[in-house]
Amino acid sequence: MTPCVEWTGGRNSQGYGYVAFRMGPRKVQSKSVHRMAYELLVGPIPEGKQLDHLCRNRACVNPEHLEPVTCQVNLLRGATLAAKNAAKTHCHRGHLLIGGNLYVNPKGHRECKRCRANASAKSRRNT
Ligand SMILES: [Zn+2]
Ligand SMILES: [Zn+2]
Repeated sequence: MTPCVEWTGGRNSQGYGYVAFRMGPRKVQSKSVHRMAYELLVGPIPEGKQLDHLCRNRACVNPEHLEPVTCQVNLLRGATLAAKNAAKTHCHRGHLLIGGNLYVNPKGHRECKRCRANASAKSRRNT
């Protein structure tokens, strides 16, 4: 994964980088920098989705670290202890643990299907 690109400008109370536009003498509009970076470099954010920081660094504007998720997923990935295991988004090799690549073993641990497949292919080759 590429390193975080931290926004060095203003941050709002939640720690997200933002910029403020003066739209008129009284009207000031602020916009989250990570949303702007994503829209600019990746594309429009799907309707009803929020951008989640995979790196959990709210000041980060690296679009590679941003993933549009539903509000619920974002809350689930929050920093509470119970959510820690659920918050595991990548395996140790960096594969995304979502959708078809996510395997939940009988103990409830989240595992990467690609790495599981690799491991079994390797053991077949060795024997
Ligand atoms: Zn980052
Ligand atoms: Zn993997």
